[in-house]
Amino acid sequence: MESPVPTERLYYQDQYLKEFTAIVASVEELPDGKVGAVLDRTAFYPEGGGQPADTGVLEGPSGKLKVVWAENRGEDVLHIGELEGSLSPGDEVRGVLDWDRRYAIMRTHTAAHVLMHAVDRLFGRTALAGSGLSVGSGRLDFAAKITRDQLPSIEEEANRIVQMDAEVRANVLPRDKAEELLARYGAGLGPAQEGMEEVRIVEIVGVGADPCGGTHVARTGEIGGIKILKRKSKGKGVVRLEYAVSGFY
Ligand SMILES: [Zn+2]
Repeated sequence: MESPVPTERLYYQDQYLKEFTAIVASVEELPDGKVGAVLDRTAFYPEGGGQPADTGVLEGPSGKLKVVWAENRGEDVLHIGELEGSLSPGDEVRGVLDWDRRYAIMRTHTAAHVLMHAVDRLFGRTALAGSGLSVGSGRLDFAAKITRDQLPSIEEEANRIVQMDAEVRANVLPRDKAEELLARYGAGLGPAQEGMEEVRIVEIVGVGADPCGGTHVARTGEIGGIKILKRKSKGKGVVRLEYAVSGFY
């Protein structure tokens, strides 16, 4: 059942929001014994775009849901976890994110953009064939011939962007404005943005811009450092780079 009003996504207003209050819209038992809850608003990021879901806790007046996963369901965010006590529609809950995990994901996610821009700067605009993020490390599949010899220069360029401490801006823009901003960096919209009237653009000021719906740090310096851990040829001209951010290598 979808709630009448879509879940308000507080992480788009403030990517650093760690705690919030919300009203429970619906609660359901899931087949695996876990419980799912939809709120009127949330700071929990639901799995999507290669970024894993947030975890944390929802504390209500007569119980708490230990959130182990969150996912999109239509326009709602379903918080999935183990329930102690009870939770009912109309309850006010205090949501608290597992911030260490989320902040590490934000740093890792921003590092993915930095690495893409580093590769673009060195070899020209390069298409991405896939990507994935976890806590502190991630992978990027480039549709480009990146050799092992080139890895030190990519890593060096990425860390130069980190040290610039460039501002990272995320804004939802009308389609034409989004295209304008992307074009300034030699980029454009892709098939994933087909038909969208508004597009969220993540811009690393002076470095590059991409359409993206995830959560990022405010300045590249927060990443600390980026290390390329591994290069793997995936065949068909695709090369996978695995990387980690400071504290995870
Ligand atoms: Zn992003």
